[in-house]
Amino acid sequence: MRPLLGFLVVAALLLGGTGAGMGAAGAEPWYAETDAADLDGRLVVIDPGHQLGNARFPERISRLVPAGGFRKPCNTTGTATNGGYPEATFNWAVARQLQRRLERRGAEVILTRDSNSRRAWGPCVDRRGRAGNRAGADLKISIHADGAHGGGPGFHVIAAPHRRPSLQLAKVTRARLRAAGLPVARYTAGADGLDLRGDLATLNLSRMPAVMVELGNMRDPRDAHRMTSPSGRARYARALAAAAYRFLR
Ligand SMILES: [Zn+2]
Repeated sequence: MRPLLGFLVVAALLLGGTGAGMGAAGAEPWYAETDAADLDGRLVVIDPGHQLGNARFPERISRLVPAGGFRKPCNTTGTATNGGYPEATFNWAVARQLQRRLERRGAEVILTRDSNSRRAWGPCVDRRGRAGNRAGADLKISIHADGAHGGGPGFHVIAAPHRRPSLQLAKVTRARLRAAGLPVARYTAGADGLDLRGDLATLNLSRMPAVMVELGNMRDPRDAHRMTSPSGRARYARALAAAAYRFLR
């Protein structure tokens, strides 16, 4: 009976590893669903993009703030699906799931905002960028979604140029999103899922390895479908947790 059971387990693992829809579980044996506190002592900053109420505070969010050698508006409103599901809400949902996953492994998590509310605005990009600097955080993931009409589906990962640890984190993140079966955006500059940009305060002001992820294109029906479903959001969160885990370990 034992050999048969062993065979069944191996077969299930192999099948799980090749199935596109459930790839994440089988393909990443180093990131098992356990409660092992192997991220104990690690500090991660999660930045859940724009605040939901930003659009109601145009004057406050257009105020200029330091962005890393130049100034930029405090924040923007973010995008939405054609059906009206806001980017801020998507970012928030994925960020909270990512937080829970990392905390379960023993990591400490700082969120750059503590609510997703139509009555709130900000924080500004300079505060998002500096979050975790003084505490000596180990990495930062800024969660966003794009809104490119006619751009097709897909994610891309952004890092500030000339920052080797951030580029490394970006590559790890891209690999984990790909391993989760998520498509790479074709409409961005690099078209290989990586974008190097020096104009983002959130990345410029971070003194730790930091990336911004545009997890998908909210204006694309396929991405919108995934982003508005709980299972789709869990898939993004799981891939980001795997990236953080891989980078820290
Ligand atoms: Zn955004």
